[in-house]
Amino acid sequence: MSHDYDTIIVGGGPAGSTAAAVLAERGRRVLVLEREAFPRYCVGESMLPYCYFPLERIGVLDALKDSTFSVNKHSVQFVTMDGRISAPFYFFQHLDHEAAQTWQVRRSEFDTMLLDNARRKGAVVRERTSARRLIVEDEVVRGVETEDEDGTTRPWRAAMTLDCSGRDGFAINRQDWRIRDAVLSKVAMWTYYRGAMRDEGLDEGATTVAYVPEKGWFWYIPLPDDTVSVGITADHEYLYRDGKDLERIFDAQIEQNAWIRDHLAPGRRVEKIRVTGDYSYRSRYCAADGLLLAGDAFAFLDPVFSSGLFLALRSGEMAGDAIDAALSRDDVSATAFADYGRELCAGMEAMRKLVYAFYDRTFSFGKLLKKHPDLRGDLTDCLIGNLFRDFDPLFDAVAQFADVPTPLAHGKPKERVVLPRS
Ligand SMILES: Cc1cc2nc3c(=O)[nH]c(=O)nc-3n(C[C@H](O)[C@H](O)[C@H](O)COP(=O)(O)OP(=O)(O)OC[C@H]3O[C@@H](n4cnc5c(N)ncnc54)[C@H](O)[C@@H]3O)c2cc1C
Repeated sequence: MSHDYDTIIVGGGPAGSTAAAVLAERGRRVLVLEREAFPRYCVGESMLPYCYFPLERIGVLDALKDSTFSVNKHSVQFVTMDGRISAPFYFFQHLDHEAAQTWQVRRSEFDTMLLDNARRKGAVVRERTSARRLIVEDEVVRGVETEDEDGTTRPWRAAMTLDCSGRDGFAINRQDWRIRDAVLSKVAMWTYYRGAMRDEGLDEGATTVAYVPEKGWFWYIPLPDDTVSVGITADHEYLYRDGKDLERIFDAQIEQNAWIRDHLAPGRRVEKIRVTGDYSYRSRYCAADGLLLAGDAFAFLDPVFSSGLFLALRSGEMAGDAIDAALSRDDVSATAFADYGRELCAGMEAMRKLVYAFYDRTFSFGKLLKKHPDLRGDLTDCLIGNLFRDFDPLFDAVAQFADVPTPLAHGKPKERVVLPRS
């Protein structure tokens, strides 16, 4: 069957742009459909060291190093509820590689850089174009129908469709594939400050995780232009127990942690308070015939360890490689993506176990490492994003302190699919 494109990618965020760059570099004809006009706002500014490798692969490291939208990040630090700060966890103490220095990024410009990079490599990008429905013929996904801003609808056909539509979940919503992780069902509220306190020197770009009661936590992420991204993640019942006014909730929570209170005191809030629920989930399937899912469109994990961007970039890269191989074999059936699903889920399980441990009331990294100092390297690998390796010894040890979840059974390819036609 002849198509105008080899692959249609829904969503031009980090996952979609990375996959587009990988495929275009291989000479594949790629169409990226993006609902917004870039630069567009997106939360999720803090990277992990292992983001370096997909970014290196698609050739954007020099542009990132020279950018004005990033701050160098060398470490993460933790603050107790009474405001005591831990020694910073410097990535270079564990990783002897340039990747040990990573970045905090203003996403609007970072994501634009990635999308422009995909364009330069040959991908066709259509902004202000929303994917509305999957085109399914003979039980195989053959493309998508889009709607432009003026309401014009249009079909686009390709051998493969890659869904990178983020938490909006183009495919998983339409197929009813979103399975929520009940234990990690949290709410996040966040905003931006200018003129708030920043640490100095190496610590200027550190991510700070500051605890509030009930295992809730603040993030404090320094960005360019004297701006700080500040947000809280906690249980719905805890955050909303005294009412629904977002400003009052946020201000009350700032008082719960002395470090956050003191750091924000000289600053002023410069944006509205945003909120999201609908936290951690994974799709029932990672693929159907002619369809693959990557980034948040496939799964989302609580962002306490800043894993989202890394998983988006890495799954975009993996999806690009898997689709290229499938096209070469002329086999775009769901089963062609079994390895992709297996590897991605295994990496995500490691991070998921760590996130569960974080929220377990009896767990602390200090206690774990005191008893198992030999596991410091394994723990570090998990925290910097080196997720695609064996972590059994680490989680056998974690299980002595906290409940370790069993791996989710879902996320594999759907071997034969009957998709509704609208
Ligand atoms: C509160 C919060 C805090 C976070 N903090 C961090 C952090 O500190 N560090 C970190 O690494 N991650 C963080 N994340 C996660 C991070 O934001 C995401 O993992 C990352 O943006 C995923 O990239 P993506 O490319 O999969 O999706 P996105 O970046 O969401 O991109 C998806 C794109 O698809 C487009 N789109 C959607 N639907 C359609 C459609 N129907 N048609 C066409 N286009 C469409 C959207 O416009 C968007 O541009 C956080 C997330 C949340 C919610």
